[in-house]
Amino acid sequence: MKEERSSGGVVIRRGGSGWQVLLIRDMNGSWTFPKGLIEKGELPEQTAVREISEEVGIGDLTLVKKLSPIVYWYRRNGRIKKTVLYFLFTANSDKPLKPQKEEGIQEAKWTPLHRAKTIVGYPKTNRSLLQETILSL
Ligand code: ATP
Repeated sequence: MKEERSSGGVVIRRGGSGWQVLLIRDMNGSWTFPKGLIEKGELPEQTAVREISEEVGIGDLTLVKKLSPIVYWYRRNGRIKKTVLYFLFTANSDKPLKPQKEEGIQEAKWTPLHRAKTIVGYPKTNRSLLQETILSL
């Protein structure tokens, strides 16, 4: 069995009516969080910052804390066990989001944190990340 390790970010910011979270729509059409494979020599938090910048074009992130890793299995030329390390960041950004279409990211948006729970895809893994985020505020 093949194993993969990625790292990503749950990115929040203060909006006019409360906290908002950054969601991207992936190539399956599911709303989820930015992430990507950890490259050689990279610390997981560096991967997370790089992927957020590459996938939606925002920087100016402040690391709040490490969240619990998520684990899932999927099929791509055989079964793959994937562990994704997630970090909670706050963003200080009103810049427009630039979803990276070449990487299959169709859309990106800021969503009220309480609403995100009802629209995230992969709820088995992603809802626990949102719950942990809400409890950290
Ligand atoms: P990366 O962004 O790390 O480079 P990738 O784009 O190659 O990864 P994934 O996003 O891991 O691949 O998607 C592979 C499959 O895993 C998807 O088809 C989807 O079914 C499933 N998947 C993606 N995210 C999750 C998740 N958070 N929880 C459970 N299954 C997921």
